[in-house]
Amino acid sequence: MVGKFGKCILCCRSQVSKEEDMANESYEDAIAGLSKLLSEKADLGSVAAAKIKQITAELEAVSSKGFDPVERIKTGFVHFRTEKYEKNPDLYGALAKGQSPKFMVFACSDSRVCPSHILNFQPGEAFMIRNIANMVPPYDKTKYSGVGAAIEYAVLHLKVESIVVIGHSCCGGIKGLMSIPDDGSTASDFIENWVKICSAAKSKVTEKSASLSFAEQCHNCEKEAVNVSLGNLLTYPFVRNAVVNDAVSLKGAHYDFVKGTFELWDLDFTISPSISV
Ligand SMILES: [Zn+2]
Repeated sequence: MVGKFGKCILCCRSQVSKEEDMANESYEDAIAGLSKLLSEKADLGSVAAAKIKQITAELEAVSSKGFDPVERIKTGFVHFRTEKYEKNPDLYGALAKGQSPKFMVFACSDSRVCPSHILNFQPGEAFMIRNIANMVPPYDKTKYSGVGAAIEYAVLHLKVESIVVIGHSCCGGIKGLMSIPDDGSTASDFIENWVKICSAAKSKVTEKSASLSFAEQCHNCEKEAVNVSLGNLLTYPFVRNAVVNDAVSLKGAHYDFVKGTFELWDLDFTISPSISV
């Protein structure tokens, strides 16, 4: 019986695609797999090895003329240390003892929308989460524990005073959400299932602005998705309590890097900017 069961497992496993197999690997398995690949590479014949050596040398030659990531990181940190860290001993001395940020900020992972740059946040000012399309998922201890832990820490321990969700122009994540077929089918492992968090924004936009172009619908969805995220923040009991007690305010925002503008609005589920810069 046991043997039969064992055989069945082997049989089923052989039908699992290699991709799914890898997705189920533990990190130890992944490292072992990588070691195996590297040792197989080492076992290649001398001709192949010589070819690899030649290609590697060519790549290194290109790299020496082009972008060097290690050098870029070193230069960046030296610049920060000499221009900021060493020139602001009071600030960094205080931050060495602890942080007390007034803001929690949700922003997109997009490399063009760093809140520290566009809002001039200094170290210690904003506790941040950045993810695809700056989304706040609803309270779910299993699916979204990483985000939940950050919100819990920000609200209960750091006692931030404002939570700001910042959407932005030309957001690839929102475009991805707007592009999901009506049957809900997905082609990616993670991206589409993640951005579906704001499916309600897509529905609202496609209903209300069916006559608009796809680009205009995406633009509207960038803002509506922020409102869905503000609503999702209220599914966290500690956020709800803090809002009711006036300890925390929830704000939506949209940064347009094409026009160079920034809109900020309070939680009210309509797009009505209270401040527009
Ligand atoms: Zn984005």
